[in-house]
Amino acid sequence: MDEKKVSILGIPFDNLTQIEFLTRLLIRMEKQQKTFLVTANPEIVMYAKEDPAYFDLLLKADYIAPDGIGIVRAAKKLNMPIRERVPGFDLMLGLLDLSNTHRKRVFFIGAQEEVIEQAVQNAKKRWPDMILAGYHHGYFDHSDPKMIEQVKASKPDLILVAFGFPRQEKWIYQYLKSADYGIAVGVGGSFDVLSGKAKRAPKLVQKLHIEWLYRLMKQPSRYQRMLALPAFMKKVNQQKRKEQKK
Ligand code: UDP
Repeated sequence: MDEKKVSILGIPFDNLTQIEFLTRLLIRMEKQQKTFLVTANPEIVMYAKEDPAYFDLLLKADYIAPDGIGIVRAAKKLNMPIRERVPGFDLMLGLLDLSNTHRKRVFFIGAQEEVIEQAVQNAKKRWPDMILAGYHHGYFDHSDPKMIEQVKASKPDLILVAFGFPRQEKWIYQYLKSADYGIAVGVGGSFDVLSGKAKRAPKLVQKLHIEWLYRLMKQPSRYQRMLALPAFMKKVNQQKRKEQKK
């Protein structure tokens, strides 16, 4: 395996800093190289263990960023330390900064209609030199090829897809199969934050790595999903024991 990759439960993470990710992505954008970028957290890794088709799809990504402190802790436990946590939201902001500086075309797709509209309005103000290739809400038949054609026709350099996993990665894979270029990344609930509908955790909460606790308090119905984290650490411990036996 590439020395810059760290395998966690079979998912090959790129051991790059946020700056390194962005530098590489900018080069690929300039060269118009098709790029499938995934930001994966423990929930995604656990889901992939249950859904082999999704697991195979993740292996087709050009880059997988370690989104979440759980991934960083798992890598440490496996004695393959990951240099830094690269939150998907920050990577998205970085890509929008680059699109602004280099006047790239961006397509925003996903979230509810009023959310995407507000998110795009806010984005236009914050990144005035970015070119808005287009936008669309995320509640349509994701298997309909018409939407792929519509997005492709707008010639985006960057496509931000906010349908939540695994929907967004499945759609991106189909999109990139037929597109000639573009950096495509699933950004989960990021448009809800960009629109102001949802708030990101305060900086202190982010620093203490207790964003999960903050989200749980805001949205107690998420507790089921959070059970993925202890289950993930348990699996990581199993991987460690297996590797020690080798
Ligand atoms: N979403 C969407 N289309 C769908 C389902 C969800 O655009 O068919 C959007 C939703 O509005 C939200 C984002 O995807 O902005 C993440 O949704 P959610 O938190 O439900 O997804 P999860 O992360 O739980 O998979």
